[in-house]
Amino acid sequence: MKIRVWWAGAAMLALSPLSAAVAQAADVKAVATFTVLADVVSEVGGDRVEVSSLIGPNGDPHAYEPTPNDVRRVRDADVVFMSGLGLEGWMDRLIATSGFKGQPVVVSEHIHTREMEEEDHDHGHDADDHDHGDHDHDHDHDDGGHHHHHDGPDPHVWNSPANVEVWVDNIVAALSKADPAGADEYRANGDAYKQELESLDEYARTQIEAIPEDRRKILTSHDAFGYFGDRYGVTFLAPLGMTTDSEASAKDVAGLITQMKEEHIKSYFFENSNDPRLVEQIASAAGAQPGGELYVESLSKPDGPAATYADMFRFNVDQMVKAMKQND
Ligand SMILES: [Zn+2]
Repeated sequence: MKIRVWWAGAAMLALSPLSAAVAQAADVKAVATFTVLADVVSEVGGDRVEVSSLIGPNGDPHAYEPTPNDVRRVRDADVVFMSGLGLEGWMDRLIATSGFKGQPVVVSEHIHTREMEEEDHDHGHDADDHDHGDHDHDHDHDDGGHHHHHDGPDPHVWNSPANVEVWVDNIVAALSKADPAGADEYRANGDAYKQELESLDEYARTQIEAIPEDRRKILTSHDAFGYFGDRYGVTFLAPLGMTTDSEASAKDVAGLITQMKEEHIKSYFFENSNDPRLVEQIASAAGAQPGGELYVESLSKPDGPAATYADMFRFNVDQMVKAMKQND
């Protein structure tokens, strides 16, 4: 891709005295906090933007120790993208340390957020759960306390492609500001990618609608599928809350085991970016089988099954659908 940009610049150099400025504009250096976001930025940026992710494949975006190399990458970036909503608690310090002159672009801005649920695992009210998101939305923004783990908006917005469309709009705006000559291209790339996001949404809806509602239950390590669950009517059980650095209480674990048995949940999932031990312990006590691995907040390596956001989303839907069909 770099080669193509270089040739375009070289061709214009022969034709036009403005070419030097054009070639320079074609080289926006963007940094994103984690792989899922970096992929979406590269979809919008196309050949004009070079994107790198601070956290690598299979990494946990909640807990991260920036390296001296990250400090340099942020300092040298033209645009820095983060998801926000408390996901990347380590970013403020990195930005300050790096001496980055701009403000990071918070791509989840303007997303209609859901609040983190209270930490009771009393999902006896499943049937109502799916509507409950809708009534509550209006209050969300008033509740500003997101410094405590069990409080504030759910940061895992990308697990619903409808939210990623908002990311795309924010990314188009930020790249167009950094590189006005590319604005038309960013808008065109963004529009094309939003079509793909809509087809992903449709794919999930079609697959999941075919499963009876009382079988749509999934056990994972931590609560990263709230937006997915609200949108497609799936209940997720998880021993950890919405951040990976909290701990599950013995009471929560016992409650989940009972619930797994009572509700005939037959399989459970690992997460590519998290320690599987707790979820394994719960599953084995409840007699459930491993359903495989879900990519919740980190892409796989390029040769894995979730090398892009679109692949990750489809892969997760397929895995979940297969497992939910076994619940009875
Ligand atoms: Zn998470």
